[in-house]
Amino acid sequence: MPKQENGQREDSLMQNDLSESFEEEFRAFLGDEEKLHLFDDLTKVNPVTTRTVLKCLQARYRVNLFYTNAGCSLVALNPFQPFSCLYSPELMREYHVALCPQDLKPHIFAVAEQTYRNVQKQMDPVNQSIIVSGESGAGKTWTSRCLMKFYASVAASVISPKGNETVERIEKRVLDSNPVMEAFGNACTLRNSNSSRFGKYIQLQLDRFHHLTGASIQTFLLEKTRVAYQAPNERNFHIFYQITKGATAEERLEWNLPEGAEYRWLPNSERNLDEDCFEVTRGAMFHLGIGRATQSNIFKVLSGLLHLGNVQFSNPLDESEPCELEDKTKEFMKTTGELLQIPIEELLESLRIRTITAGKQQQVFKKPCSRAECETRRDCLAKVIYARLFEWLVLVINENIYTDPSVWTSFIGLLDVYGFEAFPENNLEQLCINYANEKLQQHFVAHYLKAQQEEYAAEGLQWSFINYQDNQNCLDLIEGNPLSIFSLLNEECRLNRASNTDLFQTRIEKALSTNQCLSRDKFSKKPNFIISHYAGKVCYQLAAMVEKNKDAVPPELIHVLQNSKDPLLQKLFPVTEKNQNNTKTQNRAAVVTVVSKFKSSLEHLMEILSRTTPHYIRCIKPNADCKAMTFRREEVLSQLQACGIVEAITISAAGFPVRIPFQSFTERYELLRKSWGSSKKRVWDKSNSHPAEKTAYLDSAASCTFCKLLFF
Ligand code: ATP
Ligand code: MG
Repeated sequence: MPKQENGQREDSLMQNDLSESFEEEFRAFLGDEEKLHLFDDLTKVNPVTTRTVLKCLQARYRVNLFYTNAGCSLVALNPFQPFSCLYSPELMREYHVALCPQDLKPHIFAVAEQTYRNVQKQMDPVNQSIIVSGESGAGKTWTSRCLMKFYASVAASVISPKGNETVERIEKRVLDSNPVMEAFGNACTLRNSNSSRFGKYIQLQLDRFHHLTGASIQTFLLEKTRVAYQAPNERNFHIFYQITKGATAEERLEWNLPEGAEYRWLPNSERNLDEDCFEVTRGAMFHLGIGRATQSNIFKVLSGLLHLGNVQFSNPLDESEPCELEDKTKEFMKTTGELLQIPIEELLESLRIRTITAGKQQQVFKKPCSRAECETRRDCLAKVIYARLFEWLVLVINENIYTDPSVWTSFIGLLDVYGFEAFPENNLEQLCINYANEKLQQHFVAHYLKAQQEEYAAEGLQWSFINYQDNQNCLDLIEGNPLSIFSLLNEECRLNRASNTDLFQTRIEKALSTNQCLSRDKFSKKPNFIISHYAGKVCYQLAAMVEKNKDAVPPELIHVLQNSKDPLLQKLFPVTEKNQNNTKTQNRAAVVTVVSKFKSSLEHLMEILSRTTPHYIRCIKPNADCKAMTFRREEVLSQLQACGIVEAITISAAGFPVRIPFQSFTERYELLRKSWGSSKKRVWDKSNSHPAEKTAYLDSAASCTFCKLLFF
């Protein structure tokens, strides 16, 4: 956690970098600058521009107000400094018992409480989702964790018919999934010391009494390459540091992890992070039904991977011979074989020799791999083991927190996925991440902006349409049928063409030339394509993209893992008929590519989201250095632009934030029923003459005051 340096606060509000004319315009609309922080809802800012919004957020940040409403979204600024009073159980309770949580200061607990009440009120749709977005380090995981704690504490405050013990156990298990998932799926990167290297959607399941009965977790696209490659100044997944730092003397012997030993795949281990705490992970795994013996098995395999990382090959004297193991690394190979329970000869053969089946008789040939190929295979072995271990862990966690659909009647889903990414070099990973963000943006546009405007038109309300950015064109370019970047990438994989990236670049340009979201960096010598995303242009490099999409695992590696005597590896690599035939089928067409898998899991998610009432929390990272209480205007500005927040605020400000179906409203406010007559309108016109109707529909705070008047 970065600490505030010498108690000083860097605050660029003092730097007057806005133009004078803008300042005047701003003052004219917002009045007293001293009071800017009082704008707790950005829909009240006038005019709504990225810069006015920015200025309000900055004023609020200065006085420790990190949450601000923005129509249907909540903007969350990361203080990069713990404020325990902001997340205390007392505060949770305050929001939970408030007559109208929206009357209190904007907070993630207000959003959480709102979703909980919507479930209780049987809103249509009854299921709720909170979509937490933002760039790396913006605070998505922190926010999701706090939301989960809120729901767990709300669930604890109600008496379960099964007895409170069950409820507490379930809450604990659901919360315990966090440290486990983070130990195995998070890592220290340049942008965040606890960066989630996977996307997560957790469904908190509630029974008809609105008790938390269980949960289920779906993950997306784990960055498994990190196991074998860490960018300069970054680290591997936390769990590797936890075992090397936290193992007992006995375990060190068992897992062959002598104190102070150095591993190539364990860079920057001298840095001590809060996340390095092994005991927390072990305790949580235990609560989730992963016993000590299984845990030990997992850590032994992980230790095997660390030894594997130290294995290095050298070129043989005779090219027809397999590569040699470098002398100093022979011992590491031996230990890897022991820890993974695979005979060393078999393991070595799988890394150094390729088996080719050819001809009508399906003759088998053996060909030694080059040194580079051996190294790729070594890395691939580690990646496939880690990826399957992660998948298996999610499965086990789900088995321990999931309840039968007959028990739960509704759910609240929390989505914590990586934000939009644009680096100097981008590849398949960024393409998938940005594609996911395009999908979420479309969901936001469809569910909020578009639906709201269409509804106003259908209701015949006077309304001047707001131009929002529809990103369908961009999505067509990425995933459309029959031709898109994804379909062309899959085609290359299916035809198993030798990767000629220049030719592939031409093919993309020819096939998709009519789409205006596609262009190319003509000054770059490397084959590339540029996509104009809703959040900005991103240039993707074509080198290795097809290979990454194939994500092929040499069948010899799967085979050797299937033959391991290790109980965990046997579970991760079961011997099925399909696997046995793997060698023969490897060149056939049926390759499930990374983009196909990602697309279908995302479509499944979007399908779930579309059947819920969405709520949005936009996390903002006020400075790239993760410095406490530091607000850098330019950095915040680009994030505000990237999430389309201004369009959303404009629509909310002009529209009716509170819209209740006529039926529910009349039922709830029976007292006033007579004066409404038999109107079937769902949304009332602002000019409607009845003051009560007007109050109820103009803004949420006013409608709450109105409810209070009714009840007291
Ligand atoms: P990534 O996409 O890399 O996973 P993220 O958006 O999930 O990033 P977090 O890990 O949630 O980012 O937050 C980064 C760090 O910021 C946290 O480790 C924590 O130190 C700090 N932080 C985030 N939110 C808060 C908060 N509300 N109060 C105090 N500190 C916070
Ligand atoms: Mg995260």
